[in-house]
Amino acid sequence: MSKYDYDLFVIGAGSGGVRAARMAASCGARVAVAESRHLGGTCVNLGCIPKKLLVYASHYAEDFEDAAGYGWTVPGHGAGGDGHGGPSFDWSTFLRNKNKEIERLNGVYERLLKNSGADIRWGQARIVEPHAVEIDGATVTAERILVATGSYPWIPDVPGRELAVTSDDAFHFPTMPRRVVIVGGGYIAVELAGIFHGLGAKVSLVHRGMHLLRGFDDDIRAFLAAEIQKKGLDLRLGASVESIERRGDGLCATLADGTDLEADRVLYATGRLPKTRGLGLEEVGVALDEDGAVVVDDAFQTSVPSIYALGDVIARVQLTPVAIAEAMALVKSLFRGEPARVDYAGIPTAVFSQPNVGTVGLSEAQAREHHDVVVYLSTFRPLKHTLSGREEKTMMKLVVDRATDRVLGVHMVGPDAGEIIQGFAVALKCGATKAQFDATIGIHPTAAEEFVTMREPLRNADRSPPMGIAPSSA
Ligand code: NDP
Repeated sequence: MSKYDYDLFVIGAGSGGVRAARMAASCGARVAVAESRHLGGTCVNLGCIPKKLLVYASHYAEDFEDAAGYGWTVPGHGAGGDGHGGPSFDWSTFLRNKNKEIERLNGVYERLLKNSGADIRWGQARIVEPHAVEIDGATVTAERILVATGSYPWIPDVPGRELAVTSDDAFHFPTMPRRVVIVGGGYIAVELAGIFHGLGAKVSLVHRGMHLLRGFDDDIRAFLAAEIQKKGLDLRLGASVESIERRGDGLCATLADGTDLEADRVLYATGRLPKTRGLGLEEVGVALDEDGAVVVDDAFQTSVPSIYALGDVIARVQLTPVAIAEAMALVKSLFRGEPARVDYAGIPTAVFSQPNVGTVGLSEAQAREHHDVVVYLSTFRPLKHTLSGREEKTMMKLVVDRATDRVLGVHMVGPDAGEIIQGFAVALKCGATKAQFDATIGIHPTAAEEFVTMREPLRNADRSPPMGIAPSSA
């Protein structure tokens, strides 16, 4: 019998923490998981899930418009309950239904944990010794402690920052904002901009760079910006907010060029920082990096051998499925005797912007650093929009290594890009070549078939890579 109360004490019941706790418990380990807010963490409560539900909600505005070309009569057009007899959106109905679903998921997580045999300890946990945690006035000992506390949205130091909100607030706004300024050009900024625009708000997306979505393929970035602008969203590139102040009933964000943007909400989506404060980490000797992320080795072990960390708090890749993969690797190594590592190469990802972005593998620029590449690129009007009349276009791109014919990157902007790219991620993991893509029969008529029917290279390595479509700032 171990001298400790538990074999594993997990701090944080988010995606990574819950997976580690219940898999370890199902291996026979004595496990407790501490949580101070809600089961499921950011993904379930303030991120992926409510966001995706909001994406669905906001897309109905276009769906109602598109239906007309197919013979449907939809009274009026657009969203927002403008009182002109068109389809209208009720924010409080959405919130009520969304909250019900999140509560259901909280319950699912609770059952999963309890059925696995893990104890749930409610409260703020603090590590007091390498093998001891204080929670709710009690000291609990554990052979190993796992820090899976996630991250929090960060707002830069701008005058009036206390008036700004983040994605944490967006899912609980008491009323639907009519005018929103969103600052940032990453995942959350473009997703929330699409959501509020779709719901009928006037949205300004203010980004300091000249292109959205740093790290993504340049053609994707340019194409998405152009599509977003086509929809009428006020995209301000190369712009920054200098101050925020109250004005009348609302707020005013003043840009560096002197432009005043009046808004009901000014929302910052400028990145997320590891949640390490107040956990006692530094006091027991756990090393943090300059951004406050917990430093771990390949086995997720910190500088204190009994303490491990994974997920957003180690700030490697802030994605739910990555935290889950890290948790699986940790449990296999510690409790199943199967040393496992996470392969961070070829992680597929989607941005639920409107239209969606889906991507896996290397961008063209990354590929060109080490390979002689051939690029295939196709832009087209999706079949659905031949009758709907919508001008939205889809873009697909393959980046291929000329020497080996291996497909290095698959990129898409268009409806269901995330759904489509998931399958291609398997192909890339298997090392698929362009010839194998070509030998695959397409599914007709789909957008996805374009990925296996692109025959003519767009550009070769000896030609400089142009940006597909240059975005213009508003
Ligand atoms: P991101 O890192 O994606 O983007 C942050 C954005 O903020 C960038 O455009 C960055 O600009 C900008 N920025 C940073 N600092 C400042 C500043 N001081 N002033 C103005 N702009 C600034 O972070 P997000 O907050 O969007 O999302 C956090 C993480 O959550 C993501 O990295 C992603 O891993 C995860 N996530 C994943 C989703 C998904 O899978 N669909 C959805 C939502 C979040 P620049 O590019 O110039 O640095």
